[in-house]
Amino acid sequence: MAGLIPESIVEDVRRAADIVEIVSEVVALKPAGRNLVGLCPFHNEKTPSFTVSPEKQIFHCFGCGQGGNVFAFLMQHQGLSFPEAVRALAERYHIAIPETAGGSAQGGRADLRSRLQAVNNLALEFYRRCLAHPKQGQPARDYLVRRGLSDAVIEAFQLGYAPPGWDQLARFLKGRQVPEDLAEKAGLIAARRSGSGFYDRFRGRVIFPILDVNGQVVGFGGRVLDDGLPKYLNSPETPLYNKRRCLYGLHQARDHCRASRAVYIVEGYLDLLALHQHGIANAVATLGTALTAEQVALLKRFIGSGDIVLVFDGDAAGQKAAERTRPIFEQLHSRFQPGSFRRESGVNTRVLELPEGHDPDTFLRARGAEAFAALAAGAKGMVAFLIDAALRQHGDTIEGRAMAVGEMVGPLQAVSDPVTRSLYIKLLAEKVGVDEAVIARRLARPGHRRPAAVGETREKAPVRLPALERQLTAMMLQYPEILADIDKRNVTSYFKNFQLKAVAEAVLARYRETGATDGVIERLGDPQLQRLAAGLALGEEQWTLSGCRQLIAQFERARGRPSREVFEAIAQAEQAADETRWQRLLLERQQAARQRELARRKLLNR
Ligand SMILES: [Zn+2]
Repeated sequence: MAGLIPESIVEDVRRAADIVEIVSEVVALKPAGRNLVGLCPFHNEKTPSFTVSPEKQIFHCFGCGQGGNVFAFLMQHQGLSFPEAVRALAERYHIAIPETAGGSAQGGRADLRSRLQAVNNLALEFYRRCLAHPKQGQPARDYLVRRGLSDAVIEAFQLGYAPPGWDQLARFLKGRQVPEDLAEKAGLIAARRSGSGFYDRFRGRVIFPILDVNGQVVGFGGRVLDDGLPKYLNSPETPLYNKRRCLYGLHQARDHCRASRAVYIVEGYLDLLALHQHGIANAVATLGTALTAEQVALLKRFIGSGDIVLVFDGDAAGQKAAERTRPIFEQLHSRFQPGSFRRESGVNTRVLELPEGHDPDTFLRARGAEAFAALAAGAKGMVAFLIDAALRQHGDTIEGRAMAVGEMVGPLQAVSDPVTRSLYIKLLAEKVGVDEAVIARRLARPGHRRPAAVGETREKAPVRLPALERQLTAMMLQYPEILADIDKRNVTSYFKNFQLKAVAEAVLARYRETGATDGVIERLGDPQLQRLAAGLALGEEQWTLSGCRQLIAQFERARGRPSREVFEAIAQAEQAADETRWQRLLLERQQAARQRELARRKLLNR
């Protein structure tokens, strides 16, 4: 799971890092018993439920359920990937990470990525230098000034300029010994159709570098200075750049998103820069796609269960905006959001429509940031927006209303949570002026049902963890003395809850390997399991050997209890007057009960 970083180095980094030191940089911690507590950085709270254990080197929030070790903290708080978190800490604690040997497929990919990264950095340097050039950069600087952008914003977003001419960047990169095929893979140059040689992808355009969440340049966008076409041009998809996973401006916006627990989403580079120019810093732009599930998951790392506000131009109001919103709505509701403990929990998505004829830039210039905030405060919920748009489109006649209801069938069927769905049905019924039951029947009508979305089966309501398995797992994490017994009696193989089973088995595996449970949380690659394990490990139960053995006995009794199938089989044999079968089943049941009782006594009397 460490990707390319050797396991032993990950281990070294974990040992060297101090979670208290890392957390203290962002949370004021004060002692509480053996732990430290503070106000959770992941959710809003007034009394501290965020707990850090210096002893176990883990954290857990009893308010929002976030938790894990020092890597998990950095991943969740800074939005880093696991290897990035390891690297960040390695750097801080001066642990060298050896470059992985090439050759392996994965090594080769990582190598390509880092080479592409280096080429992008060079291109960024080139574009920025061109913008700053007194003569060459003049037209682009004039354009940015016309768009009302300050030097501070230009600097913060590292804007650049690709000068006209066919091969300025190509020649610059050649001068820096960048192989042409690599620059081509980075999407910066393309092979000429006729003859040989390469030409620049971006020419005569203002350049908007696209950064990933950590501030690395993964791609570029370019806009013409005049009315030329295409108005916008983006990097193609590369091993570094996937537009479905990127959000323009997220790196600059992330702290503001976290602080405000809200994010504005606009559609273009200049809209986004206009918002920043007017002091609205919790804003990002999609890159020519409708908002994707991946992007929502990324945003949720920063806004938690806060607000997503989609900002649409005045001229996009109505049909166009609704067309763009409907798939987002369906995606938000029908998919299990990766990386989220609670499914699509409470992201509150609203739609801000600017007045007719305005885009964010013109609106902010004409009316200012306060007017924008006032519009945002009144932004409609997504469903209300979609209903209004449908009514607007079809007209407020009986037929129009019927059409509007028809249009909402698909989106409402995508809502997998029955409570949310019934609230939406109620809203639609009120707006259209028909009975709720009519709409509910319309939704249930066969032929309208959508096939189940991927992952829908996982959405069956928040799983209540079985109490005994939960207690046993907590015991294993908090009281390693019991692990020999657990191992010998094969207790975890009877676990039914797959999450608890995964945690318990990881604890056992670690114990068998090292004789301790230290470091087990890393072994759980899945952040959801890490949170679960951290929460259980930080419980304050008081364990005694005899108490633990009683718990095991109780669990074995519960698991060994003859199932309903056995009773049913006996009843069937009875009805069928199959005496041999009936006797055999009874005997089996008695023997099983006796064996369980013997095992229990042996366990408790040791
Ligand atoms: Zn919390």
